[in-house]
Order: sequence, then C-alpha cells, then structure tokens
Amino acid sequence: MTSAREAELLARIPNQLYVNGEWVDGEDGTIEVADPATGKVLRTIANASVADGVRALDAASSIQAEWARTPARVRGEILRKSFDLLQERAEDFALLMTLEMGKPLAEARGEVAYGGEFLRWFGEEAVRITGRYNASPEGTGQMIVTHRPVGPCYLITPWNFPLAMVTRKVAPALAAGCTAIVKPATLTPLTTLALVALLEEAGLPPGVVNVITTTSTAALSERLIADPRLRKVSFTGSTPVGVQLLKQSADNVLRTSMELGGNAPFVVFADADLDAAVDGAIIAKFRNIGQACTAANRFIVHESVAAEFAVRLAEKVNAMTMGRGTEDGVTIGPLIDDKAVANTARLVTGAVAQGATLIVGGNAVAGGGSFFEPTVLDGVTPEMAVSAEEIFGPVIGIQRFSTEEEAVRLANATEYGLVGYVFTADAKRGQRMIELIDTGMMGLNAGAVSNAAGPFGGVKQSGLGREGGLEGIHEYLETKYTLMPSAFA
Ligand code: NAD
Repeated sequence: MTSAREAELLARIPNQLYVNGEWVDGEDGTIEVADPATGKVLRTIANASVADGVRALDAASSIQAEWARTPARVRGEILRKSFDLLQERAEDFALLMTLEMGKPLAEARGEVAYGGEFLRWFGEEAVRITGRYNASPEGTGQMIVTHRPVGPCYLITPWNFPLAMVTRKVAPALAAGCTAIVKPATLTPLTTLALVALLEEAGLPPGVVNVITTTSTAALSERLIADPRLRKVSFTGSTPVGVQLLKQSADNVLRTSMELGGNAPFVVFADADLDAAVDGAIIAKFRNIGQACTAANRFIVHESVAAEFAVRLAEKVNAMTMGRGTEDGVTIGPLIDDKAVANTARLVTGAVAQGATLIVGGNAVAGGGSFFEPTVLDGVTPEMAVSAEEIFGPVIGIQRFSTEEEAVRLANATEYGLVGYVFTADAKRGQRMIELIDTGMMGLNAGAVSNAAGPFGGVKQSGLGREGGLEGIHEYLETKYTLMPSAFA
C-alpha cells in the first residue's frame, strides 16, 4: 500500500526527459515504473524516441566547450553543493530507492551515504587535475603533460543501485569538464530524475547533464554511439550488453569504461575467525537482496569448518525478516521482478537436482511482489549453474576445499574477476591471496569493499577501467603531451 508520505514524495519526482535544462515529454509515450514489493505502478514517466536521444546529444555537445572552460573550482563547488543538498534530502532519496528498487530502507540510507560520497569526492578532485613539466632525457627539450576532458559522454546505468551507479559516473565526468547524457535503467529511473533536479538546483548549467528514459534502449544507444560528436561510453550492467557496446564503440574508437558482471569467490580458511566470516558473508551476500555485482557468489570453505559455517549462517538467515523495504524490521526485500525470481528458483532447483543440500529457504514466495526466500545450499560443486552463473539473488552455495592451492584454483575458475573475499587469520596467507586471486578488488577479512575513495572495477570479463579513487577522474580525461625545444639548448 502506498502511504500518504509515499504518494506526496512520488508526486514531486519529475517524470519527463531532462534535455538542455528543460523538462520535456518523450515522443514515444510513457513508461510505467512499478514497486517490486507490490507490483503496483508508482509513477508514469516519459519514453524517449531515438530523436529525443539525439536532441540530448545536441545539447551535451553544444555546451561541451563552455563547460570544459568553466573553472574547475566552479565545477567542484556545484558538486559540493549537490552533496549538501543530497544530505538535506537523504530521507526522500532513501525512500524513493526503496520504492522503486525494493531494498530495505536502512540499506537505501546506506546507498545515499555511499552514492553521495562520489559528489563530494569528485568535487574535491576537480581542482586536482595536475600534469607535469620536465626536461627531456637528452636535455634538448621541455616536456609538458596536461589533461583535458574527453568530451560528451553517454552514461548507462543499471537498476540495482539507482543512486550510486549514477553519481559514480556523473560526478567524475562533471569534475573533469565533460558533459553527459544519462540513461538510467527503465526499472528504476526515478532516483536519477530526482538527482538531476538536485544538480540543477545546485547550479548546473542547462545542457551539461541530460537524462533520457526509454524503452528503445538498443536503438537509441546505437544511434548515439555512432554519432561522431560522442566521445565516451561508460556502462554499468551485464557483461553481454557491455560486450555489444564495446563492439559498437569500436567503429568510432570511443573511450569506454565497463563495469560488468561478477562471480565473487568468498574463501574461508580453517584459521579464520568464523564469526567474522559469517558476518562478512551475510553482508557480502544479502546486501541488496543479493543483487550486487560485488555479491559473494561462490562460498569456498575449508572442509574442516564448512559444516559449522553453514549452521551459523543458517541461524542468521532464519532470523531475517522478508517484506516491503519500507516496513520496520525488514532485512530482506523483494527481487527486482518476477523474471529474477524465476531465475533464482531455476538455479536453486538445478543445484538440488544435482546433489546440493538445501539447508534453509529455497522457495519463491507467492502472494504479490517478487520475493524469494534467503537460501543456504551446502555441497555445491563448480559445475553447477549456481556456481558458474552470476546468481543475482539471495542464495549462498557452499563448496568445500582441502588445500590452499585448491582454494585459489576454485576462486579463479570463472571468466569474471571483479572482487574476491578472503577470511584468514594468517597475514602471510592473506598476502598470498591478494597476489593470487585474479580480481580487480579484494576484501581481506571484510565483506564489503565499495568506497568512493577506492578504485572500483574488475579484470577479465568484469570490465575495463575504474570508478572512484584517484583513478576515477582519469576515465574522463585525455592526456596531451607537448614538446618544446629547451630554452637552454
Ligand atoms: P543490463 O545489462 O540488463 O542493463 C544495464 C543497463 O543497460 C540498463 O540501463 C539497460 O537499459 C541498458 N541496456 C540494456 N540493453 C542495452 C543495449 N542493447 N544497449 C545499450 N544499453 C542497454 O543489466 P542490469 O540487469 O540492469 O544490471 C545487472 C548487471 O549489472 C549484473 O550483471 C551486475 O553484475 C552488473 N553490475 C555491475 C556493476 C559493476 O560496477 N561492475 C555494478 C552494478 C551492476
């Protein structure tokens, strides 16, 4: 049921396209945005045509040179002001995300904090885009290295973190002096629309950021990527779509950043603090109802502690409360839609049919909303689909190992390489794992790694480039090198 507070908030959220600083209707009618906990429509928003998308690129490209010349301090201050406004509106943004995406309110508040940090961090980084000036090794020349904005960027984001995935791209793009067209996921566009209204309030000039919501995603994206005015694509989403965008981007030799799927190993050694490992596992798996690229996907546990680990996990899972994320005490919300429920059910049923033991959960929940019980499976093997595929649901599958070499081999037995989690009390073993596990990020005795100050990203089929940290702004900067004859030669 939608409360009066929810109805009042939803009525305030813009529901049109944001192009060149104006709210406009889409040429292709409207899109309904639903609450995954009830299936009920929350808001009807504009559906952009390909031509609407081109108008957004017209706007982004006409103001690119002016935005690039805008002093870095001014760009940074707009981001900082946006951060401050977001803190004032934190409760609105948290509720909005819970409504459109389903995560419990406490987690949505966490995302406001995390997502907001990108505005603050890159507001600070805007004034630290430094180059260098040095003599050539021969002493005959002076070398200057500078950085300048890449140009208009197309930013495509997924539904699972409706705020953070957008700020993680928009903030460094703006800090670097790039303009942007943002295409949020059609399932969760309301947070992006609210965010761009906030950026406007913070002083962002018209045309610098444009927002397009559309069901013609593939056609619109292909058209923008083929346009010579576009200079960069930054995408967060599934690996197959990322691969397709990389192929399209090749024709115009576009800069690309790809934050793609994951299949994170969560390795527990016999010497680990088991309580800490269980707490870490709960965070690494159930945050966002298992729908995170960083979600632990394969629990690789030493055979001497696996049974005890499973029992302690099951206790925690049994204590979880499933429901609409707005309700008090709810720790696990719905999945994003019924397709996600069916996929999770397929993975669990398949594993059980192949010999895995169901310890707790295992069922879709009937009666409205897209719910699936938090689940623990033991006796999982690498061959099962629940290990080989990205689950994107609240399912823990435990595999067992006996030697350190076997643990590393199992951890690396995937085409993905986003993040790995290792729990061990042995510092040297921890150091070896950092070197041997083939991922872009690692949680060592930690079940969560995301931080605006850290470079987020993967290797192998988990992607290209990094978001956040000192590295994040360079995704939106070109390097220019100039040589001059030495004044002393
Ligand atoms: P998705 O690939 O289906 O969609 C992501 C975005 O791409 C959406 O905005 C969607 O509308 C758009 N899209 C879909 N088809 C497109 C096309 N042909 N051309 C252009 N755009 C297209 O992914 P999803 O289901 O929204 O998100 C889940 C996936 O995202 C998971 O694989 C998850 O691991 C990944 N993810 C990765 C990270 C990361 O930082 N590595 C973060 C969050 C999610």
